[in-house]
Amino acid sequence: MVEFALSEEQEMLRELAHEFARDIVRPNAEHWDDKSEFPTEAIAEAHALGLTNLHIPAEYGGMGMGILDEVLVSEEFSWGDPGFGTAAYSNGLTVGPVITGGTEEQKAEYLGRLVKEPLIASYCVTEPGAGSDVASIQTTAVRDGDHYILNGQKMWITGAGQADWFFVLAYTDKSAGYKGMSSFIVESSWDGVSLGKKETNMGQRASDTRAVIFEDVHVPVENLIGGVEGAGWFNAMKAFDLSRPNVAAQAVGCSRAAYEYALQYADERQTFGKKLHEHQAIQFMLADMKTKIEAGRLLTWRTSWEVDNGIRNTESAAHAKRFTADSCMEITTDAVQVFGGYGYSEEYPVARLMRAAKVLQIYEGSSQVQRMIIGREMLRDL
Ligand SMILES: Cc1cc2nc3c(=O)[nH]c(=O)nc-3n(C[C@H](O)[C@H](O)[C@H](O)COP(=O)(O)OP(=O)(O)OC[C@H]3O[C@@H](n4cnc5c(N)ncnc54)[C@H](O)[C@@H]3O)c2cc1C
Repeated sequence: MVEFALSEEQEMLRELAHEFARDIVRPNAEHWDDKSEFPTEAIAEAHALGLTNLHIPAEYGGMGMGILDEVLVSEEFSWGDPGFGTAAYSNGLTVGPVITGGTEEQKAEYLGRLVKEPLIASYCVTEPGAGSDVASIQTTAVRDGDHYILNGQKMWITGAGQADWFFVLAYTDKSAGYKGMSSFIVESSWDGVSLGKKETNMGQRASDTRAVIFEDVHVPVENLIGGVEGAGWFNAMKAFDLSRPNVAAQAVGCSRAAYEYALQYADERQTFGKKLHEHQAIQFMLADMKTKIEAGRLLTWRTSWEVDNGIRNTESAAHAKRFTADSCMEITTDAVQVFGGYGYSEEYPVARLMRAAKVLQIYEGSSQVQRMIIGREMLRDL
């Protein structure tokens, strides 16, 4: 039997997130994007309402909810503003490797901090010369007594300018290839940690994206995640199985907002003596948007349900992330088309949504990388 209904608690959570997105996020979206302003206060309010850190286990003070619960909230946040959705989700990606691979002490300290206060943690994997090809990273951590000496530069790090601590992937043994990678928790206040300027991105400007530089940073051995060298690649990649459903939900939320604006405009605007949506070409465009949103949400819920039930979801997460991100780009572009010349103006929200959509096809594994994952899974059993 297949069950599509949400529980009463999930409906309430979704309603709370929707009201928050409607009343707090959406009214500020244009301002944050225009001024490139990080939504500090709104994130603090979301934290106070219990809408962040949802999948941090209850024993570390978190909400102890599932990924499906979390994606319900993410869809609403990104419906309000995709930039807010990304900014508020930085912790969701970063806590993944700590939850799955961290020691009890690491979980208690670093997950606990995020629960107690509305702090940000950032995930540092990408480098200037290594994005899709993660194994090409150059950052190294060399053991020196009870410390590691960390050197390297990370690039495009979400939330970096606000972060209390970073998840950092580095080589401890380059000769061992990806099995020589280890991961660390590095506090932003430590000597040798510095930040680049906030990037001027095409969209989602509420989010703070920067380079992070590590110069002879002394990282205590206790901050080697899981206490073992060589587990970094696994830690970093496993996090994506938890986080890609979330990015997919962000894409569905952004798509839904664009569709709703387009539908409303098509009801208000008349051409050739008819409402826009009475022209079949426009009605079909709106119908295709809706089908893609419905299909994307089902893929997103399915992969989330798999994680929550302990089923390996690497392939289903890639399907969901790839489909929803590409659909979001198509839907937001079509929404601009429905608005005609007005859609091209920043006076109307669809231009901002179209700019916001692009990065969903790039970060957390580009649409090409998702296809590579699907291809690998597809061919595995041949
Ligand atoms: C706003 C923003 C926020 C980000 N946040 C974070 C973060 O918090 N933490 C973090 O670690 N990283 C982050 N990233 C980095 C992001 O994950 C990378 O940009 C992404 O993985 C792509 O890497 P790249 O930019 O180096 O592109 P490249 O890897 O150089 O790829 C360039 C293009 O070629 C394609 N391509 C590459 N290899 C292949 C192949 N084998 N076959 C087919 N096509 C291929 C890619 O899909 C892409 O279209 C962020 C990026 C942005 C823009």
